[in-house]
Amino acid sequence: MTDTTPTSTDRIVAVPDAEDVALLNEAHRLAEALDEANPPTVVAVAFDGVVAPDAIAAGDPDEILHVTREAGTFAPGAAGIEARSRALAEATTDARAVLLPDTADGTDLAAATARRRRSACVTDCLLRVRDDELLAGRPAYGGRAYAEFSFERLPPVVTLNTEALGTPDEPPTGVPSERTLEVSVGDDDRIRHVETFDVPEDDLSKARRIVAGGFGLGGPDGFDLIEELADAVGAAVGASRPPSDEGWVAYDRQIGVTGKEIDAQLYVPCAISGDSYHMRSVNADHLIPINTDPNARIFNFADLGIVGDAYEYGPAIADAIRRAKRDADGATEEVAE
Ligand SMILES: Cc1cc2nc3c(=O)[nH]c(=O)nc-3n(C[C@H](O)[C@H](O)[C@H](O)COP(=O)(O)OP(=O)(O)OC[C@H]3O[C@@H](n4cnc5c(N)ncnc54)[C@H](O)[C@@H]3O)c2cc1C
Repeated sequence: MTDTTPTSTDRIVAVPDAEDVALLNEAHRLAEALDEANPPTVVAVAFDGVVAPDAIAAGDPDEILHVTREAGTFAPGAAGIEARSRALAEATTDARAVLLPDTADGTDLAAATARRRRSACVTDCLLRVRDDELLAGRPAYGGRAYAEFSFERLPPVVTLNTEALGTPDEPPTGVPSERTLEVSVGDDDRIRHVETFDVPEDDLSKARRIVAGGFGLGGPDGFDLIEELADAVGAAVGASRPPSDEGWVAYDRQIGVTGKEIDAQLYVPCAISGDSYHMRSVNADHLIPINTDPNARIFNFADLGIVGDAYEYGPAIADAIRRAKRDADGATEEVAE
């Protein structure tokens, strides 16, 4: 490994995506909160072949670290995690923190890097400084509590919810210094084949409305009514784990600790009991369950609930919504005439 300039002793290292201004802006905010008079240097890492150094300059880092490989370039995605995590672990000696965006790639890279550095990894969090210490906070227990983590081993490797951070009002003013770090790392020879496939447009982690079905539906046909209700509400289809385990729905529909975490305005769980493995990954402004059991745990989280058979109420609600929409469209046409 050859490093063309001396290392800095106190740095916050960020690995932004191209044009990712929010992550670097947050790095600067934390640097100043840690030491206003002499803030840690904000270093932005650009892996050769993944992000061009120029593309991350917009975030105004103090330094751009262009990480190159002795042979070839780095690969984006899963096939490149081994090489990039090894390089990032090398590049973050003396770092106060390593920040990545909370994307699929960012999360994979964060976990692999933390493992190599033997430090802690917290995903989808926000950071704050208290008594010169960085704390990572994130919702817990389905959004009903807020957990904060402090770190014994440095640097913490965290993925930040950049959508929640916003973008700075002012354009960048500084000219970052540039440094090149050439590493000699191999690819992951355990990965023989990488196949990419289209993620459905209604990616659950991004969906604002979700109607989900559970084991209480009794079989795959139950998802016809879930799709019908989702269609009427303009929602994505989700599921608890048992329907996904049974093959009634694709795995990418599964909500829960071993599935997707959701952050929706409206969540309508049908025939789902509300087990903690499911609810831990449910963040919803409004939760309206349909369940035959009035004592089902899911009602503890409800704003409003329907105690009844999903096969009866699901289609009835879908029908009522469709009729209301038709009436509203008719009224609009009359006004337009
Ligand atoms: C390590 C581990 C990881 C797990 N990860 C996940 C995960 O990621 N996601 C997840 O969801 N689970 C997960 N689980 C499983 C979890 O513990 C529960 O078993 C699961 O969430 C229960 O799914 P369910 O609510 O659909 O089914 P059930 O618990 O069987 O509940 C069915 C519900 O449907 C109601 N019902 C029955 N018939 C009707 C009807 N006709 N109309 C309306 N309501 C009806 C019943 O009253 C009941 O409340 C995990 C478990 C473990 C051990």
